[in-house]
Order: sequence, then C-alpha cells, then structure tokens
Amino acid sequence: MTDQKPIHSAVLVKQVPDTHNITGEVMTKDGTMNRNALPAIFNPEDLNALEMALQIRERRGGTVTVITMGPPKAANVLRDALFRGADRVILLTDRKFAGADTLATSYVLKCAVEKAGPFDLLFCGRQAIDGDTAQVGPQLAEKLGIPQITYAETIVEISGDQIVAERVLDSGSEIVRCKLPALLTVVGSANTPRPASVRRRIERKLAAAPGEYAAIRAAWPEFESDAQLETYLTAHGLKIAVWTAEDIGASEEQVGLAGSPTQVHKINFVVLESTESKTIPATPEGIAAMVQELVHEYIVG
Ligand SMILES: Cc1cc2nc3c(=O)[nH]c(=O)nc-3n(C[C@H](O)[C@H](O)[C@H](O)COP(=O)(O)OP(=O)(O)OC[C@H]3O[C@@H](n4cnc5c(N)ncnc54)[C@H](O)[C@@H]3O)c2cc1C
Repeated sequence: MTDQKPIHSAVLVKQVPDTHNITGEVMTKDGTMNRNALPAIFNPEDLNALEMALQIRERRGGTVTVITMGPPKAANVLRDALFRGADRVILLTDRKFAGADTLATSYVLKCAVEKAGPFDLLFCGRQAIDGDTAQVGPQLAEKLGIPQITYAETIVEISGDQIVAERVLDSGSEIVRCKLPALLTVVGSANTPRPASVRRRIERKLAAAPGEYAAIRAAWPEFESDAQLETYLTAHGLKIAVWTAEDIGASEEQVGLAGSPTQVHKINFVVLESTESKTIPATPEGIAAMVQELVHEYIVG
C-alpha cells in the first residue's frame, strides 16, 4: 500500500443460524429448519471481511462501518463488531424487510450504503452459511454501479484510486486491478479474524440499540429514563443506529416479501448412499481407470 489517503470502508455482515452444528432437534419432520433451535452467530466469512477492513484501517487510517439487515437481535453481531474494532455500526431493521430474498436484501443494503457513505471500499463475506447463494455482494456492487472483486483473498496494493487484489478460484488464482470505490467478497482463507478485545468489550459494554434500552436500564438503574441513557450512549459513541425502510428512503415495493421474486417451494435432503461412492486406488493406474470410466459414461469429455 503506497499512498497514505485514509480509506473509509463499510462491511456488510449477516447474523446466521450456526448451521455447522446441526443436531437432530434442528431439522423438522417436513424437512425445514427450526432456526430457534440453533444459536445465532456472526456469518463466518463476514468476520474475514471485517478483519480485512480493520487491517486496511490500521495501515492507512480511515474508518470501518459495519452494517447488517436483520431482526432486532442482529444487534448482537454489531456489538461483536464493535468489540473487534469497528468504529460505527448500523442495524437495518423493519417488519417490512422480512422475507427478503437476495434481490430485496441487496436493494436495502444499497439504500443504506448510499445514506451511510461515501465509502472507498465495501466488504462482504463470500457467502452466508444459511442462504448460501453468494449473490448479495455481487448484486450490491451492480446496484451501486461499482466494480467488484469476488473470492478476494489478499489485498496486494491500494494506490491512488486503484486496488489490486488476489482472488482464489478452484483452478488457481488471479490478480485483479480495479478502480475505487469497489466491493470485495472475502473468502475464509483470507486471514484469521481477531477476537473481540477485552478492553473494547469493557469500554463498550453498554452499546445498545433503542429497542434494548429497557434491558440496559434494568441492569444499570442509574439511568432514570430512556432519554438520559440515549444522551449518554450518543455522547460516548455507543448508540447502535437503527434505520427503517423509511429512514433509508427504500421503496416499499422493493423490500421484504413484496420485493422478492424468489419463492422456495420445497427443500430436499440430499443424502448420498454409500453404494454411490467408489474407492479409487491412489495410484496412476487407479486414477487412469477412473478417468477412462468418466469419459466412457460421458461425465467428462
Ligand atoms: C433454504 C433457503 C433457500 C433460499 N433460497 C434462496 C434463493 O434461491 N434465492 C434467493 O434470492 N434467496 C434465497 N433465500 C433467501 C436468502 O437467504 C436471503 O436472501 C438472504 O437474506 C441473503 O442471501 P444469502 O443468505 O444467500 O446471502 P449470500 O449472498 O450468501 O451472502 C453473501 C454476503 O452478503 C452479505 N449479506 C447477506 N445478507 C446480508 C444481510 N442481511 N445484511 C448484511 N449483509 C448481508 C454478507 O456479507 C454475506 O457474507 C433462501 C433462504 C433459505 C433459508
């Protein structure tokens, strides 16, 4: 990174059910997932996206803003982001956002980024572990009309109004250059996300959204009214900003279910039977025989 202009970044993060730890109680008889039976966590690759933004701020200065769209309890991932180093956090929550597919999600995020910015860089995780589509980042870049580098693993250089990054693919890697502002979707191998800092956790323990004021006041009775608490939180940079559809100027027809053309009709379990797998000897002959079979069956050609 050669020149010293500060970089202002926004990181888009999602609170997801912990699908890495699915147990018997989680899957219902009709094949859907009982989300309440799973703990809600920070989407793993969004932590890599946050870490990338924090490392850039450490080298270049600037700010890191973290934004999520979700239910009120998604404030938890924003608090976690503050504990890990974010400067500013924004919760996009509104009943009208419920049932959003990727199109409606990226539209809401676009409206919020336009209101919260301008930003030099936007970061998303490559993919959320619940919806799994990996579409939100690319759609957001399209809607904002800015370049995107997907599957980003390393930032090689940020110089002038250009960024150079390495993206990883199944077949190798590519070094890509594009103009700022740009959006990167970040892969899990990019870095090791820093843990929440104990000092930041202590300093920011009161960080709260307005919907959480009653709970804060129950634990800290010295705040006699919501107004008094709000004044304190605002003065200390601890208020989690909450924006509704109206706040970000979003059109009602384009958010939530109303703005979502996707309909999930059915979810199937895909369980591979052991008879469908075959053990290939790890020898040149074994591999040659497997390739021959795949060609013969027209699976590869
Ligand atoms: C079983 C199931 C199937 C689904 N199928 C589809 C489908 O086929 N088509 C469809 O359009 N939707 C589908 N959805 C809905 C989808 O989960 C939502 O649209 C979701 O809000 C975003 O998509 P995603 O989880 O795939 O995110 P991805 O595109 O995988 O997320 C990539 C990145 O975008 C950012 N991001 C995603 N969501 C948010 C958010 N709410 N706030 C801030 N940043 C965010 C994060 O950085 C994340 O890492 C499905 C949901 C379920 C549960």
